[in-house]
Amino acid sequence: MHGNLIDGEWVEGDATPNVNPSDTRDVVGHYASASAADAERAIAAAKAAFPAWSRSGLLERHAILRKAADEILARKEELGRLLAREEGKTLAEGIGETVRAGQIFDFFAGEVLRLSGETLASVRPGIGIEVTREPVGVVGLITPWNFPVAIPAWKIAPALCYGNTVVFKPAELVPGSAWALVDILHRAGLPRGVLNLVMGKGSVVGQAMLDSPDLDALSFTGSVGTGRRVALASIERNRKFQLEMGGKNPMVVLDDADLDVAVECAMNSAFYSTGQRCTASSRLIVTQAIHDRFVEALSERVLSAKVGDALDPGTQIGPVVDERQLAQDLDYIALGREEGADLVGGTRPNLEKPGFYLRPALFVGADNGMRIAREEIFGPVAAVIRVKNYEEALAVANDTEFGLSSGICTTSLKHATHFKRNAQAGMVMVNLPTAGVDFHVPFGGRKGSSFGPREQGRYAAEFFTTVKTAYTLA
Ligand code: ADP
Repeated sequence: MHGNLIDGEWVEGDATPNVNPSDTRDVVGHYASASAADAERAIAAAKAAFPAWSRSGLLERHAILRKAADEILARKEELGRLLAREEGKTLAEGIGETVRAGQIFDFFAGEVLRLSGETLASVRPGIGIEVTREPVGVVGLITPWNFPVAIPAWKIAPALCYGNTVVFKPAELVPGSAWALVDILHRAGLPRGVLNLVMGKGSVVGQAMLDSPDLDALSFTGSVGTGRRVALASIERNRKFQLEMGGKNPMVVLDDADLDVAVECAMNSAFYSTGQRCTASSRLIVTQAIHDRFVEALSERVLSAKVGDALDPGTQIGPVVDERQLAQDLDYIALGREEGADLVGGTRPNLEKPGFYLRPALFVGADNGMRIAREEIFGPVAAVIRVKNYEEALAVANDTEFGLSSGICTTSLKHATHFKRNAQAGMVMVNLPTAGVDFHVPFGGRKGSSFGPREQGRYAAEFFTTVKTAYTLA
């Protein structure tokens, strides 16, 4: 059994099987579910470790993060395979995500050495001012299942880089990648208590973290409903928090778009990673002169997409993550038909293996008022919405409660520029999929998608440090 890491010790717990969604007969391993008391012990250990870690030498932190980066990158095939096996994204996607996690640790190893402040003159003569950044304290990290290694990496790396101690709770469905990552960091030389792993149920372990008076900050990625709970519990305790939640990301296709580029962008961002990305395009907003050609070409791709075992090299789209998510996807597919949209694909393929397979589903003739166009489905389901012109496309793109990523396919500089300025989203993509972002620049959204400072890149310091302004009479 793989245990939880509490105060530098691997601790056993109720063994929970980690099941492969491509073949439910395959158990990836058994992982210890933590109790609420384990979570409290982990928080106490992180609290005890904070004073020393927050004052640790820069070279110590740099070396640990660097070593972790090196090991992640050296083991990318094996870790990518584990990820694909437990989550269901394809092997290529799993390896790609693992490489990204290595790059994130490499980036933050460098950031350890680059944290700077400011010195300013006071408005009062003879006084000097220093603005510095300090670690926040004990940080709780709660992560979802769809990026089992990249999201933990982009929270753990900056948390440790800036001198915080960590209690990390991964999603129940993907403990394998989380355990492997924590094992790497532990062996890289982190002092006891600096990084604690508590696997298990959100309602038990996650809730114990929300209820703790000793977490100074909480970074969460997951559903809107849980995000609200994190927010309310954090406000009550005057705790700093950061939320990354859903999306209903639009991709606009204008008449002047390069058709091949638009179809590739749509296919990638709506259906790759089985559509299970918060940056996925689930609304394809298409102007009328290109509409039919776009729908025809994309439908062909949808119907010929190779759905199969995540570890099979020929697979383009792996299974849905679990039975509950599959049921939700199928419910939305039924709903879209009831709402009057025409369905292309969206059936369950007949594969030999017991897995949660689903063909990509493209709804044509959808309307932005339909529930399939308003609610996040989090599966390989996208709706095509036909519009008259660019102005209507922009209005429809922004007509959503979310605002994570927004894309446009066009060859018009004028429209691309206008869209970049007016899309109500944290990230804008021109002739690129809405999903697929770099690791060294800010990630995050607006409106109902996100709350708090951006993640990743140098902007991560906004959340993982707190600013101090010191005045000195010389
Ligand atoms: P999803 O529906 O995508 O699984 P969730 O928001 O339920 O999204 O899950 C995201 C993370 O939040 C997971 O690690 C999950 O275990 C955790 N979580 C779920 N419920 C709670 C809760 N009540 N308190 C704290 N964390 C929770």
